[in-house]
Amino acid sequence: MKELTREELKLKFDSPIFHQISQTADELGLDCYAVGGYVRDLFLERPSTDIDVVVVGSGIKIAEALARKLGKGAHLSVFKNFGTAQVKYKDVEIEFVGARKESYQRDSRKPIVEDGSLEDDQNRRDFTINAMAVCLNAARFGELIDPFDGMTDLKEKTIRTPLDPDITFSDDPLRMMRCIRFATQLNFYIQDETFESLTRNRDRIEIISKERIADELNKIILSPIPSKGFVDLDRSGLLPLIFPEFVALQGIESRNGRAHKDNFYHTLEVLDNISRNTDNLWLRWGAILHDIAKPATKRWDQKVGWTFHNHNYIGEKMVPRIFRNMKLPLNEKMKYVQKLVSLHMRPIAIADDEVTDSAVRRLLFEAGDDIEDLMTLCEADITSKNSDRKQRFLNNFALVRQKLKDIEEKDRVRNFEPPITGEQIMEMFNLPPSREVGALKSAIKDAILDGVIPNEYDAAFAYLLEKAKAKGITYCGE
Ligand code: ATP
Ligand code: MG
Repeated sequence: MKELTREELKLKFDSPIFHQISQTADELGLDCYAVGGYVRDLFLERPSTDIDVVVVGSGIKIAEALARKLGKGAHLSVFKNFGTAQVKYKDVEIEFVGARKESYQRDSRKPIVEDGSLEDDQNRRDFTINAMAVCLNAARFGELIDPFDGMTDLKEKTIRTPLDPDITFSDDPLRMMRCIRFATQLNFYIQDETFESLTRNRDRIEIISKERIADELNKIILSPIPSKGFVDLDRSGLLPLIFPEFVALQGIESRNGRAHKDNFYHTLEVLDNISRNTDNLWLRWGAILHDIAKPATKRWDQKVGWTFHNHNYIGEKMVPRIFRNMKLPLNEKMKYVQKLVSLHMRPIAIADDEVTDSAVRRLLFEAGDDIEDLMTLCEADITSKNSDRKQRFLNNFALVRQKLKDIEEKDRVRNFEPPITGEQIMEMFNLPPSREVGALKSAIKDAILDGVIPNEYDAAFAYLLEKAKAKGITYCGE
């Protein structure tokens, strides 16, 4: 965070585009201000290319005049229904909106909107740090208008609503998600009254669409330390409303003095670990969901204690329902998450045992191009507090990685296609499409993955003849 004097702030806006906006506004005799996230991010020294400009009067008029002034390179879009307009110019997007006053009804986050003053417009914003405005008119160029002292909150890293939080959150409950999202992204503290209000108003989240909730949740997940957001979601009581399967991971049970770990906190640790190594949202989702079926598969066994048999496979099956409920995409992204969940135990199992070529080859075959991501997940999954144990696992993983490399070079099994296709088999033995063809095909695949034969046509052909003969199937070639 950097505090700026009036002069320094003025310099921040000293670029051709802002001067053009300034001139346009003066020519039309309208007051206009940069506002919201753009101003906040200037002080936080975060890069941003989205500029929001609020105009006391018609935002559309200024946008149209500006686009004319900028000429060819400018692209104007007008949204009459919303009273907003956007100008795209070079690499910036400027959104113009008329200052407005909003009033809400209980069952909708869509307000009744009237024209208003700058003050009205600042009052309707979600947080003090998002309500600061900088005047762009020449006479007051660079003047900061900060009625709720967002500056102090920026310095003290505090999220606080400008008005009574019960009103701010109840009016538009999406702001509750935004509150936790900003706190997580920026590593800010949520002021106590604001937080208490989250708790009081949590049930209002039901009027918000799943898509919008998912957008905010994904921003939380993409933050540097996402666990912070999940802990806040949990403490405020929002988490059970938006992601109950995750809450079900909570708790420790013990029997005969044997306790299992709390899988909620374990998962958050895995998520934070993986976030140090990847910005891939879906890999982070893989971390969130890797143990999601532990509650459903938990059993007590007299001999071994707590078990979670097949939680990886059951977890894989749970993913589509979770994605559907949360309105996450049901496409190849989801399949990728399913694959990570289903395979997340394999590298550990291999590392725990003797690392055989055949096990590594099979893993490589099943993971394909996602093998690196899977290894990243498995390394993040080592949360043992015992440093010897942890080191032993990491060493074994290094060994698995080495083996993966060797075998990939030798056998090229990643994205492996068996050297003889089903069509070829049908032709060679004059067979119709049938289970027999499938069996011969997988016999070749297994032989290659188990290292019985190399991944080559001639060897596969010889092996195939032998297998077919044993089954009494005759070869129709020469
Ligand atoms: P980011 O772009 O990183 O999400 P931002 O603060 O720019 O952060 P936007 O959603 O782009 O967020 O919104 C721009 C500004 O509009 C905010 O800074 C805030 O002043 C205001 N705003 C956005 N959404 C809301 C809302 N739901 N309630 C009140 N004010 C909002
Ligand atoms: Mg923005």
